[in-house]
Amino acid sequence: MLKDPFGRTINYMRISVTDRCNLRCRYCMPDGITCVPMRELLIYEEIAFVCRQAADLGINRFRITGGEPLVRKDCAKLVAMLRKIPGENRIAMTTNGVLLGTFLDELLEAGLDAVNISLDTMDRRQYADITGADELKKVLDSVYRAAGRLPVKINCVVQNGVNEDAPLQLMPLARDLPVDVRFIELMPVGTGKEFNPVPNDVILAQIEEKYGKSREDCSERGSGPAVYRRLDGFAGRVGLISAVHGKFCGSCNRLRLTSTGELKPCLCYGDTIPLREILRDDLPEKDKRIREKIREAVRMKPQAHSFEDRTGVTENRSMAQIGG
Ligand code: SAM
Ligand code: SF4
Repeated sequence: MLKDPFGRTINYMRISVTDRCNLRCRYCMPDGITCVPMRELLIYEEIAFVCRQAADLGINRFRITGGEPLVRKDCAKLVAMLRKIPGENRIAMTTNGVLLGTFLDELLEAGLDAVNISLDTMDRRQYADITGADELKKVLDSVYRAAGRLPVKINCVVQNGVNEDAPLQLMPLARDLPVDVRFIELMPVGTGKEFNPVPNDVILAQIEEKYGKSREDCSERGSGPAVYRRLDGFAGRVGLISAVHGKFCGSCNRLRLTSTGELKPCLCYGDTIPLREILRDDLPEKDKRIREKIREAVRMKPQAHSFEDRTGVTENRSMAQIGG
């Protein structure tokens, strides 16, 4: 089992498979990014090798993200490769949902366990305004197709003055479908530094005013930064990821692997441990050396982020580049 210097168990790895994306979310990469050349991205075999070493050390939850993971060719192949790692591992994906409908069957066949779909509004024009693309219909089709076939969570980022009504627009999805709707406070990472987050307590108050009092659901306590609440008459739950106004670092259980093969101990800071050279050299005991680097990244985990004091944030890349 991996324990960091603050006694937290590290059992979760977020894997970014690409920095590319088919959307241009205004708080993430409104003008795109200078993409790294393909040869600098880890190939799926290299990612699976790192994950095998991580699993050996006790990591058993893997999440594939990006950029947009489904713009990378044959993403389901990676799911199948991770599925083959011995142990009871959970393999999930975070996607903007535009291509999920197209690849859902392949992903399920490959063994995907769960999916998070990012969706900030139910209004077509607002969606195009936030993401730069008129793709709301495809995302909603993906939500309806996926719901009930695997666990689905909707992730929504609420921006001041843009989509403050999103909570009320989105909650009917959790009422009518077995999906959780989660609100992620906008973090001052990359372009996100230019925005002010709407605090999650404001969002919860808005939801409770319309749908009645909620009660905490502790069933997933300790398994990540989200706090879940239940509402009477709802099939799914409300999830609150209070990145800025609630310090969730005490329950942090994760490492990140960027698409270029760097281990990242914390989202907030620029420090990373490069693995790509080790993966591509011809020296022996690659497995042992990668495991040592994973242990080193766990030892490097800081006690907490400093999102509330923006001068302390040393990560300058966009969420898409580091694997949000
Ligand atoms: N493209 C995929 C997607 O949008 O789901 C996966 C990568 S995206 C970076 C993952 C999540 O990060 C999305 O839900 C997005 O809304 C969120 N995100 C991006 N920038 C953010 C920021 N500055 N603060 C909080 N969440 C952010
Ligand atoms: Fe793309 Fe996700 Fe960033 Fe939006 S949040 S631009 S979908 S990577």
